Amino acid sequence: MNFTGSKMITEIKKPDSDCLSAARNIIEQGGLVAFPTETVYGLGANAFDEEAVLSIFRVKGRPQDNPLIVHVHEGYDISRIVTDIPDYAKKLAQKYLPGPLTMVFKSRGTVADAVSCGLDTVGIRVPSHPDAQRFLRAVGLPIAAPSANISKHVSPVTAEHVFSDLNGKIPLIIDGGKCTGGIESTVLDCTGTVPCVLRSGLVTREMIAEIAGDCGEFVPKAGEKVRSPGMKYKHYSPNCDTMLFSFEERYAAMDEYKRQRAAGVNAYIMCNGECARELNPEHLLFLGESGEDIAANLYDRLREGERVANMIIAIAPGERGGVMTGVMNRLTKACGSKK
Ligand code: AMP
Ligand code: MG
Repeated sequence: MNFTGSKMITEIKKPDSDCLSAARNIIEQGGLVAFPTETVYGLGANAFDEEAVLSIFRVKGRPQDNPLIVHVHEGYDISRIVTDIPDYAKKLAQKYLPGPLTMVFKSRGTVADAVSCGLDTVGIRVPSHPDAQRFLRAVGLPIAAPSANISKHVSPVTAEHVFSDLNGKIPLIIDGGKCTGGIESTVLDCTGTVPCVLRSGLVTREMIAEIAGDCGEFVPKAGEKVRSPGMKYKHYSPNCDTMLFSFEERYAAMDEYKRQRAAGVNAYIMCNGECARELNPEHLLFLGESGEDIAANLYDRLREGERVANMIIAIAPGERGGVMTGVMNRLTKACGSKK
């Protein structure tokens, strides 16, 4: 069977034993399987199979210089894939894995070249979602996976989101319900003497520093080589017009919303509870209250927004630091560049 052709039936299955053995067959034959994790849905291939990994890039339309994360089950011996694992990384793994933390180490050169896109490192992740663990154990191979969306679109947090992006392009989506984390894993460079956050997520810089003693954060300066290539691309964008206002600009956002509505534009306000209660817009994409709530809801509300609205007018939460660093990073990339 050709699993990577342009026309195929895409099945959505609950992760029972039939589904898992189908998943294993597909992966062993070089095909792709979408699977749930605690952050977003992933689009997985055998990390040792160059052709299979290349097909991930084709199916997603992903730029060839944006490396993939390798997912392994709990207890997998990662020294088969990477080397030079510092002590702080072992401590972090003990504290936060399985969980939404990807650690980047020096590659052993055993995974397919396409995984690392020319870098000499590999990002490793041990997801905590029970269905991700089931899938990884059933397959018994490290699985290279980016998010299971068309490149640059909003990451999927339900099996239906994956289906709407990849229907006809992949054979199987494992349906593990709605992802509870909601934003992609923290990517942490563990190749230096001090760990360094390359992409912020639910395991925060503060949480890492608490265990590792210290933690840097990579902020690309103009002209500097990007260390985590994914950071340079426009990302997470809904297929409708967007605007982003700061919390301080919330009344200007409301004026804009009213102006757009009066002009016949189907505009929605997207904001947290504090803003929603103060502004009380009729057309609302509600993000929730805490940073964790907002992370969990953000992609679902962006996808809802592109379905129900012509324009999303987003208002950033006032809070900073912790989980909000990751939330603001995604919100800015999703809504910030089209004002
Ligand atoms: P995605 O799966 O689409 O959310 O993207 C994976 C993210 O992990 C991207 O931002 C990559 O740049 C980052 N990443 C994966 N592998 C590496 C690596 N070896 N070094 C640095 N960043 C990486
Ligand atoms: Mg992605």
